[in-house]
Amino acid sequence: MVLEFSTWSRNNQWVQLQVSMEPGYKFQWVGRRDGHQIPQRLHAAFRTFGWKWPGKRITVLTQPPADLHAGSDAALSVAVLVGSRQWPIRVQEVYSLYGSVDLFGKILPVPGDVLPESWPASSRFHLVPMEWKRHFSGNNAVVGVGTLQDIQNFLHHGMRRDQGASVQKKEIIWPDLRLSEDLQWFFLVVAAGAHPCFLMGPPGTGKTQMARLWWKLLDVTCEGGQFLEPMPPRSAHVPIGSWLERTEGGCLFLDEVGEWPLKALEALRKPLEEAQCSTLYIAASNPCPCGFQGHASRPCTCPPGRIQAYQRRFSGPFLDRFQLYAYVQADPSDESVVWSEVRHRLKRARAMQSKRGLGLNGQLPADSLGKALLVQEAAWTDLRLWQQRTGMGERSVHAVLRVARTMADLEESVGVQPRHIRLAAHWHWSNQGLISKSDLWGPAHSWSTLGAPRSPRPQSSQP
Ligand SMILES: [Zn+2]
Repeated sequence: MVLEFSTWSRNNQWVQLQVSMEPGYKFQWVGRRDGHQIPQRLHAAFRTFGWKWPGKRITVLTQPPADLHAGSDAALSVAVLVGSRQWPIRVQEVYSLYGSVDLFGKILPVPGDVLPESWPASSRFHLVPMEWKRHFSGNNAVVGVGTLQDIQNFLHHGMRRDQGASVQKKEIIWPDLRLSEDLQWFFLVVAAGAHPCFLMGPPGTGKTQMARLWWKLLDVTCEGGQFLEPMPPRSAHVPIGSWLERTEGGCLFLDEVGEWPLKALEALRKPLEEAQCSTLYIAASNPCPCGFQGHASRPCTCPPGRIQAYQRRFSGPFLDRFQLYAYVQADPSDESVVWSEVRHRLKRARAMQSKRGLGLNGQLPADSLGKALLVQEAAWTDLRLWQQRTGMGERSVHAVLRVARTMADLEESVGVQPRHIRLAAHWHWSNQGLISKSDLWGPAHSWSTLGAPRSPRPQSSQP
């Protein structure tokens, strides 16, 4: 198979890149001096998104022969990912691509490169780094891309928002998501306020699906950023700063955190606390090594000591970074989420938040909590009582206040009422219970038995 793309050469010319892929292993590029390092470097970039450098014989040729630099990385990456069928896309047109690819899959201009004056006539679209796009804001054929994922999205849908007004948004087909009544309420609260949350539950129960849907809802309602699900790190080195930066306004999904090295988990703490960004971050984990603790029909096969040890990996300060916690479990009898209603309620809750002009509740800075909340006197009393009883710190109090505000917004209530505080406190306390009070998951104490806020029975805050 031979694929063709246009790319930008060292002497500022658009040239044709031909990439052939055959069975075998050798990589050969006529025209790149650093050719031998490319497979390893791009492999690292691909892994950020779950792709890999394929075991193929790959030969790259430039027409006419030209001296290429790192700006041709993007074109090669796309050829390799399409050619190895990791991107299920049929490229029917010639695209011009320019940009170097860093180790996290970000598309960047090569320092010192000049902007092109003319574009190749054979290409219908020209994909360039975001930094270049702003110089061509009137030209809809020039598309700015931030990462390899953006390129894939563009090739897949053939269009993107930043192409300008001439492009219509593709209608999203909402999948059938089945959740219990209280998980539906939880789902809505997270979506409305973009609250960082921790999902625990057996494998295959929809944790990843929920995270992706939250992101889609953010995207639909707020023109959000991208979704990123990085590969679990193998060492303490976690590029969390870069992840947060890239998912600004979007969603960062940290899956299988129970399998992460302890040092990697600890490395997340400080950046998550200090993050001044609008990323919705979500972590997910199995509840135990075998994955089935708490499952309705499949027994857990782990010795009790191992479950404790597994859950103790999540330290209190780590869990504190999340405002909400849920045990997710699929049950065939659960009801389908009615998307039209979710979107309707979301829109109204978001309207309440934008009227306040302080951003989404999940990301309210601590010093503006007082202005935003309008907490009823009785609700404050409940909150302080709960704080005394549980010994929770100020950070937890803030988390509870943010979540309670979202619950009030979803009910279009001007003030935060005691029942909002009580349910939010209970949801947050269940989170803390993960380490030392795992019996909280028992049916008598699980937040999921509390029901929707219309009839809260919060044991944790009653005197
Ligand atoms: Zn188990």
